[in-house]
Parts: sequence; C-alpha cells; structure tokens
Amino acid sequence: MKLHEYQSKLIFSKYGIPIPKGRVAATAEAARQIAQELGGRAVIKAQVLVGGRGKAGGIKVAKDPNEAEQLATQVLSMEIKGLPVRKILVDEAAAIETEIYLGITNDRAARKPVMMASAAGGVDIEEVARETPEKIIKVHIDPLLGLRDYQARDIAAGIDLPRELWRDFNAIALGLWRAYSENDATLAEINPLIINKDRKLVALDGKMLIDDNALFRHADLAELRDIDEEAPEETEARKYGLSYIKLDGNIGCMVNGAGLAMTSMDVIKLFGGDPANFLDIGGGAGSDKVAAAMKIILTDPNVKAVLFNIFGGITRCDEVAKGILVAMDEVKPKVPMVVRLVGTNAEEGRKLLEKAKMITAETLADAAQKAVKAAKSRK
Ligand code: GDP
Ligand code: MN
Repeated sequence: MKLHEYQSKLIFSKYGIPIPKGRVAATAEAARQIAQELGGRAVIKAQVLVGGRGKAGGIKVAKDPNEAEQLATQVLSMEIKGLPVRKILVDEAAAIETEIYLGITNDRAARKPVMMASAAGGVDIEEVARETPEKIIKVHIDPLLGLRDYQARDIAAGIDLPRELWRDFNAIALGLWRAYSENDATLAEINPLIINKDRKLVALDGKMLIDDNALFRHADLAELRDIDEEAPEETEARKYGLSYIKLDGNIGCMVNGAGLAMTSMDVIKLFGGDPANFLDIGGGAGSDKVAAAMKIILTDPNVKAVLFNIFGGITRCDEVAKGILVAMDEVKPKVPMVVRLVGTNAEEGRKLLEKAKMITAETLADAAQKAVKAAKSRK
C-alpha cells in the first residue's frame, strides 16, 4: 500500500525527523488559509500516489496567500499521470541549499534492508542511479541489530555531509530505519532531505510503501489507504479477499491457489499466450467470491478469453461452478471460456456448467492451448 507524502511525513515526524510545517487541503480557500497561518510563503504540493510530481508541474511555490490560492486552484484541476489531484499539501516554503537522497528498501538478493543515500538528491535521482551509480552510497542493515550508529556515520561521510550536521543526520537515519521496520514498510524514502539556508536538515518530501501482508497488525495504517487512488478492480478484489494483479495480456485467469495461478500463467505463455491478470481466489472460495472474481476479470476490456483452472481440494468444484453461473447471469460475457475442473465434486461442477456453453478441458496443457487459440481467434 502506498502512502501519500503528507501521511509519510507525519509518520517520519513521529520518529523525530524534522518536516516542514503544513497541512493538507482539498480546496483553494483552505490553501489560502493555511498559507496565511504559515506566514505567507508556501509550497503547494499535489497529493497523488505517483512519483515525479515536481517535473509534472504538481509542486508550486507561492509568495503569499493570494498566490497560494491561485496556484492551489491550478494544481487541484490537474491530472498527474492519469490521476486527478484531489488533495494538496500546503507546506511552509523551504529555502534549499542542498538536496540529499535518503531511502531504505529491501535488497532481496542480499536478503537484508539497504539504506541508500546520495548527495545528488532531488528530482533527477533515477538518472543519477542509472548514469552515475557510484554517487549512491549503500549500506545493508542487519534486521536483528537495526541500523548502527557507525553505519549512519559511514553514510554521512560517504555523501560528504558537513561535519556539524552529522549528529542530526544520525538521528534522521535512525528515525527512518525505525519508521521503516516498525511499520513493516517495503520503502521509506526522503527525497529530498534538504540542508536549508539556516543549515538545518529537513525532510521536504516523503514516501512510504507498506507491506499489504502486514497490514493486519497495523490497523492505524490500514485506515490511511486512499481508495480514490487505486484501480477500482483492486479495491473490489480486496473487499472479497481475492489476490488480484492486473497484467497486460488478453487471457483472463481464475485459479485457486497462488502456486497454481503462477503455473497457469506460465503454461499460457508456453503456448504463446499472454495472461491478463493474476488472480487467486484462495482455498474454499464460495460462489459469491467466485462471482466477484469473474466480474473483476470481465471488466478488463483487454480480456479476449478466460481460463478457469480449479483444483478442488478444500474448494468445491460445484461451488465454483455456481459462482461462474451467477456471474455469467449478471455480466453476460461475450468472450469464450475454457474451464478445467478437477478434484472435489468435479463431476457435479461440470454438469452445472454444461448449459453454460463453456469449453472444457481435461489437463492444464489442453486448457491453456484452447484458451490461447480462443483469444487469438478474437483479435
Ligand atoms: P516529487 O517531484 O514528487 O518528488 O516532489 P518533491 O516534494 O520532491 O518536490 C520536487 C522538487 O520541488 C524538490 O526536489 C525541490 O527542488 C522542489 N521543492 C519542493 N518543495 C520546495 C520548497 O518548499 N521550496 C523550494 N524552493 N523548492 C521546493
Ligand atoms: Mn521527491
């Protein structure tokens, strides 16, 4: 789950990281009011869950409350990378001397979190990472020991941070590590961490990604989810406890079990097709869940054929068949459907589906080939 800048910075500030004064607003008048409270100069920042807002014109500096209102009107009418701006953060404007990058993510290869820092922070950090990776310092963190003081000092030295700022930097790096680990984040990033004209470090931007699988133990974070910002199918899928990821292909997949779903996608590819999604309906799915899953698959206009691959263990094939029939009644799909049902109550399931004019298959290879062929014939 992605957090907005204002949400991430509030979390950072709980861990002692200095952030600018400011508040979030949804109207231009509110922005004017906040700018007034901040003493006039303010920065208006689009709160959308994509990167590169600055380059897209979503970050604007206002010299007084009047201009703040004007710029807020502008920013609130923008769309950034397809997402309409519904909220803005109005922060006191900073006087920037230096922009530093500081972030933590998981390094899967090293099986450890890694803290990264660069003196060349700011909006071009991706370019820096690509073209001059030596300008990025990396330090792996032992998850049991946490970030050690000497590691924070190594980073400060590595980015040539002025000596008088090392103590503050240490506290910020440690705070960022705690924010990352205590909230089960997969990314915690400050870009830029600035040195301002008063020679103080301030986190000007913030970004956090929280591991969805850990949200059950962070009720307060789960509430921060902004469903306006995510694909409606994903919101719907979560409501029914389905694992759904949209992909670019044209064969919709409905499978029970994550491993079987991966396998089904592989076999589709093996026969020259391309899956439109990953979808795991989970074990023991009842007909309502199956119907929801099918509706989600069929709302994707790219889907030219659907493959059902159900291995009935805890899940009963007749329940799945009932769900398919309910959904077909509601959605009236026009695309061919290939179904492979094996296991518990498979025979009952197949009988139910006989009237539904579905293509049946005995094996996964057979099913995948039929789905690929069906999708190709509809291009
Ligand atoms: P991003 O583009 O989505 O990463 O948004 P940021 O919050 O990082 O802002 C992008 C850039 O805008 C920063 O790197 C700064 O150069 C600039 N910026 C942001 N806030 C301020 C501010 O308060 N004052 C000034 N002068 N520049 C700012
Ligand atoms: Mn940024």
